[in-house]
Amino acid sequence: MEAAATITPAVLILLGPPGAGKGTQARMLEDEFGLVQLSTGDLLRAAVAAGTEAGKAAKAVMEAGELVGDEIVIAILRDRLAEPDCAKGVILDGFPRTTVQAQALDQLLSETGQKISAAISLEVDDAEMVTRISGRYTCSMCGEGYHDTFKVPVAEGKCDKCGHAEFTRRADDNAETVASRLAAYHEQTAPLISYYQDHGVLKGLNARGNIEEIAGNLKRIVSDAMN
Ligand code: ADP
Ligand code: ZN
Repeated sequence: MEAAATITPAVLILLGPPGAGKGTQARMLEDEFGLVQLSTGDLLRAAVAAGTEAGKAAKAVMEAGELVGDEIVIAILRDRLAEPDCAKGVILDGFPRTTVQAQALDQLLSETGQKISAAISLEVDDAEMVTRISGRYTCSMCGEGYHDTFKVPVAEGKCDKCGHAEFTRRADDNAETVASRLAAYHEQTAPLISYYQDHGVLKGLNARGNIEEIAGNLKRIVSDAMN
C-alpha cells in the first residue's frame, strides 16, 4: 500500500446570505484552482428530484425558505466528501449553515486529518440580495449562472459555457421565499462569522461590486490561504 499523501487538500468555506454570489464564485474557483465545489443546495435539489427519503423530507422546507434539518444535510455532505474527487480539495458552498453543522464539519475533518484553509465571508447588503435572486437563472445543461440584469449570455438565449439554449429558475427564487431565506441566514448562519473568526480562519470579502472584481479579490485570498 502507498503511504498517505502528505499534502492535505484545501478546504474552503464560502459564507454569505442567499444571493451573495457563492455559487458563481465557487465555480470560478473550481476552474482556477482545480477544486471541487460542494453545494448542499444543489445536493438537496438533486435529492428532491430523485425522490430519495432525504429529498422527500427536504422539499417542503426548501420551498418555505427554511433550513433543512442538520442531520439530513450533514449525512448528505459526509457522503459527498467521501467521494474520490474531493481529494483534490473542496469549496463548500452553502455548508455549514448552523453551528451544529460547523461542529460536525470540524469533527469530520479531524477524522481525516484535514483542516479548514479559510472561511470567506461574502459581505453584501440585504436589499441588493432580493434584486439579485429575483433575476437569476441557470443553464439547465451545465449549471452556469446568469442574471436578467447583471449577467446575460453573450449570444442571446445561448449558454456562454456550453451553448445550450434552455435555462431554469429555482422554485424558491421568489420574493416571499427570499425574505424567509434571508431571515434564516441572519438567525442561524451569520453567527458562524464569529465562530470562524474565533478559529482564526475568517477572511472578509466585499461582495458588493461586479462579478469579475469580486472574483479577482477572492482569487488573491484563496492563493494566500493555499500557500
Ligand atoms: P441560497 O444560498 O441561494 O439560499 P442554496 O442552494 O444554498 O441557496 O440553498 C437552497 C435551500 O436549500 C436553502 O434555503 C435550504 O432550505 C436548503 N439548504 C441548503 N444548504 C443547507 C444547509 N447546509 N443546511 C440546511 N439547509 C440547507
Ligand atoms: Zn451551459
